[in-house]
Amino acid sequence: MGKLSHSLGFCPLGNTLFYSPHQETETIKAAIEAGNLSEAAKVVQKSDELFNKIELNIAITGESGAGKSSFINALRGLGDEDDGSAKTGVTQTTTAPKGYKHSKYPNVIFWDLPGIGTPEFQPNTYLEQVKFNSYDFFIILASGRFRHNDSILAQEIRRMGKNFYFVRSKVDLDIYNEKHKKSFNEERTLEKIRNDCVNHLSREGMSSPQVFLVSNKEFQKYDSPKLQKKLLKELKGHKKHIFLLALPNLSQPILEKKKKAQQRQIWKQALKSCAIAAVPLPALSVKCDVGILVDNMRAYCESFGLDDISLVILASQVGKPVAELKDVIKSPLAKEISKEKAEELSYTVTYRMLNSFLDGVAEDAQRVLIKETIKNRLLSSKTPT
Ligand code: GDP
Ligand code: MG
Repeated sequence: MGKLSHSLGFCPLGNTLFYSPHQETETIKAAIEAGNLSEAAKVVQKSDELFNKIELNIAITGESGAGKSSFINALRGLGDEDDGSAKTGVTQTTTAPKGYKHSKYPNVIFWDLPGIGTPEFQPNTYLEQVKFNSYDFFIILASGRFRHNDSILAQEIRRMGKNFYFVRSKVDLDIYNEKHKKSFNEERTLEKIRNDCVNHLSREGMSSPQVFLVSNKEFQKYDSPKLQKKLLKELKGHKKHIFLLALPNLSQPILEKKKKAQQRQIWKQALKSCAIAAVPLPALSVKCDVGILVDNMRAYCESFGLDDISLVILASQVGKPVAELKDVIKSPLAKEISKEKAEELSYTVTYRMLNSFLDGVAEDAQRVLIKETIKNRLLSSKTPT
């Protein structure tokens, strides 16, 4: 091990918490090439530990009533009245930053910030009051006409050296209100709203601002997929990976990305599960632990929303019995893979089983999406890019 870490110029294993995912991969590869499988497995284990420890804190801010709490619920895949959801309503409900952990990935935390511009929270002291430094980035939510407070907030966040994304919510209401007009055109209406926000932000000194139009009531439509893609693009390493897994399963591109990200991890997981002690090369013949198979399968189900709890929530949101959703699911449930069924797995078998299980659940997630989302709600929306 000494030779390995020395030749790569890395710190010893105890400090692998500082590795980037790329460095991790390189270290693992080097360990395998050097015939040191137990070293390789240790790096994977450390990487898992880091993954479980890392926190992503996302601040959702904007004026009271802009739809912050509703947006958080939508991002967490919850309806406004589901257990653990953020309280929403027509009166101001949040008076201090309140963190909402993702139910499957508790280290992804959405912070529901108090509305700016209320008597307790004036724009000039707002960011200090909400402890702006604790967040990875901000999402500013605005609804209705553009408000001066929103551009002040944007400028202040920039000034503090943080990133923000500007989201114009409740566009379903704008569409609804305009629909009766003879000249109505959805695309044009959306473009008008977007341009209005961009112009205001530019006029107040923001260079090339980007604005995302969303409806918290129909979260799979409008610019929501584009926003999710943008946030993902800007995150790096473990934070990016965990954010992707935590995203709601409402669009095909997100499902595809989740599948690819999980695929890239399979060889590491298969490696980790190998009984490393006194393993002769080649690595492919080592014995693997069935527990790791089940853990990973369960994790895939959770990230694709195919676990029991997610299915119950989805069923209640779309008003269908859970059994009807389960009808389209073909993969065996992770818990059905028992120790007896898979006593002595090799690296190759674990690798293959995880790959084919992942293919299966990714297809299942698509079938559930098609059955519930596309059929009911996506008909009138365009395919996200
Ligand atoms: P907050 O004060 O910023 O947290 O705003 P809330 O999330 O509590 O939302 C205020 C009100 O607007 C509630 O009645 C929500 O149901 C409603 N609302 C929020 N977002 C949307 C949306 O995108 N579309 C529609 N139609 N209503 C929304
Ligand atoms: Mg609120």
